[in-house]
Amino acid sequence: CGIIGYIGKRNAVPVLLYGLQRLEYRGYDSAGVAVIDKTGNRIIVEKQVGKIKDLQEHLWGKKIEGHLGVGHSRWATHGEPTVENAHPHTSQKGTISIVHNGIIENYLQLKQELIQKGYKFRSDTDTEVIAHLFEELYTGDLLDTAFKVAKKLEGAYAVGVISTYQPDRIVAIKKGSPLIIGIGKDENFIASDIPAVLEYTKEFITLEDGEIALITRDKVEIYTKDGKRIDKKPFRVSWDV
Ligand code: GLU
Repeated sequence: CGIIGYIGKRNAVPVLLYGLQRLEYRGYDSAGVAVIDKTGNRIIVEKQVGKIKDLQEHLWGKKIEGHLGVGHSRWATHGEPTVENAHPHTSQKGTISIVHNGIIENYLQLKQELIQKGYKFRSDTDTEVIAHLFEELYTGDLLDTAFKVAKKLEGAYAVGVISTYQPDRIVAIKKGSPLIIGIGKDENFIASDIPAVLEYTKEFITLEDGEIALITRDKVEIYTKDGKRIDKKPFRVSWDV
């Protein structure tokens, strides 16, 4: 399973697909991407059961373009490997899309609370609660909301979030599942592992458990779960793809 995210000048789709291919060694049964289109008003989500190659073929000729997106290869833990259960998962209003690696242990309780509030679930995954929680707890700021969502989640997760509310950023939260940030020039990346983005950059920050990251085209900010900004120096890798 794997996560990838891109923000920058390039079209996100090929970067996401390439990254997912590089993460294939981690194992998976389905895959998908979510991209915010050029208007910034719409998230386009495409998913497919099978290999990254199948997703790639599914995307051929669709001309999806955007400079901000997330991708996922899923190793199903909750819910069959189907298109509905594949990630990214999107909030009901279509405004927030997320990818998740790991297992949310308290998802049943969260799901019940959200259903009571009127949220309709479209998948059998534990993951979908995260998308609805971001919508439910949205404060007007995605980073701010991430602190609130992280407090609610029990279990293991690496999560990448994009939203039409603020179509200039990726927010990432992490506990128990790996997540790195690739630092480029006028572009930045998130991924489960370094090889996924080594084609584009050699500078990285490793996100530690409990840390929350704000990633825009030209900056990366890391915070503790209590909202304290921390200064993490990127490291350079010398190896090649
Ligand atoms: N638990 C999630 C699911 O089954 C994520 C699995 C993964 O890490 O790929 O959808």
